[in-house]
Amino acid sequence: MNENEIIHIQDKYMANIYSKKPIVLSKGKKALVWDLNGNEYIDCMGAYGVCIIGHCHPKVVDSIRKQSETLLSCHGSLYNPIRSQLLKKIVAITPKKLDKVFLSNSGTEAVEAAIKLARKYTGKSEIIAFMGAYHGKTMGALSATWNKKYRDPYKPLVPSFKHVPYGNYERVRGAISNNTAAIIVEPIQGEGGIKVPPKEFLSALRELCDDKNILLICDEVQTGFGRTGKLFAFEHYGIIPDILCLAKSIAGGVPMGATVARNDVMSSFKIGDHSSTFGGNPLACAAACATIEVIIEEKLSERAEINGNYFIGKLEALREKYKLIREVRGLGLMIGMEFRFDVLNLILGSMKQGILVLDAGRNILRFLPPLVITKEQIDTVVNVLDTVIMEDENEKLCRQSSN
Ligand SMILES: *Cc1c(COP(=O)(O)O)cnc(C)c1O
Repeated sequence: MNENEIIHIQDKYMANIYSKKPIVLSKGKKALVWDLNGNEYIDCMGAYGVCIIGHCHPKVVDSIRKQSETLLSCHGSLYNPIRSQLLKKIVAITPKKLDKVFLSNSGTEAVEAAIKLARKYTGKSEIIAFMGAYHGKTMGALSATWNKKYRDPYKPLVPSFKHVPYGNYERVRGAISNNTAAIIVEPIQGEGGIKVPPKEFLSALRELCDDKNILLICDEVQTGFGRTGKLFAFEHYGIIPDILCLAKSIAGGVPMGATVARNDVMSSFKIGDHSSTFGGNPLACAAACATIEVIIEEKLSERAEINGNYFIGKLEALREKYKLIREVRGLGLMIGMEFRFDVLNLILGSMKQGILVLDAGRNILRFLPPLVITKEQIDTVVNVLDTVIMEDENEKLCRQSSN
């Protein structure tokens, strides 16, 4: 199939739910991807933050290959070796208190399980979520997600979700009632525009939850596994959640989600209360085992911190150069750059010059590169952005003067 056919077939037969860009990816290696014509791109999109360890890491590829030759399916009602290996790893890298895991296949499923768990454990039904939050799009997770565009067509949603301003402790406190089961929070909001909360916010939430007997759910689907410069973002704030939601990068590109909880919390699920046919699938477990090993062996959290500071520094220099850039913010290699206008042209312009970058809302560029991105690649990204922003600015000035 040639490029046009490939694009045509997906446009014709695939549910039309993604805002697509006309690139056909054919391979990837570390922080680079190539299209069908052999054009190379530095991947600051990382499949929406999935490719933390880089594309096609040989250890993951090898682990998947080996597992695929022995066992591809094993339901959770039976045991298999690789799943035990993965569970040991997850429990070893998460705080001691969090030692029970529900395995699923995506972020939204990790959140669904957390919501059900919070309700079952507390016997209460209200959940406090935040304005700007993104937790997924299945009906339960969608009810915790903030964006009206995603929610409105599907009302009525699950009742008893309240949204309060992110970072505003007093508003959270005011929203608590006798029927509050949990607070669900992203330690840094991703889809909401790379919002980093005030330093004391998460510890204040933790205290509030302890005080009122409410569960704290951290959705680290985007921030987890080293992205922000710590293995988990809650470590920046010196807190431990009661329930932790993981997915995206957990299995190096293979679908997997995990809900990790305190033993007493997870034990409120009785046999049959929740399940997933594919949950804990051996192939995904093999991929996740290798991924976690790579993150630790290659010290990727530290790399995210060092490269993130370098990247943010360079983007700050761009902000000083262009009035059109309002703010640069982020932690580690989870970075947002807010503009005073729509960024679609910048994304398309960067793509033409070999850089893939995401948005987060209309006016924010978002960078979620593999943590193995090099300083030289970061330099290239920033130089391309510089050119693209300059061209865009010139064009805007031209249009103004011709009006
Ligand atoms: C992406 C994301 C989700 C949803 O994950 P899916 O795998 O797309 O279902 C949930 N929460 C956060 C914080 C995310 O970034």
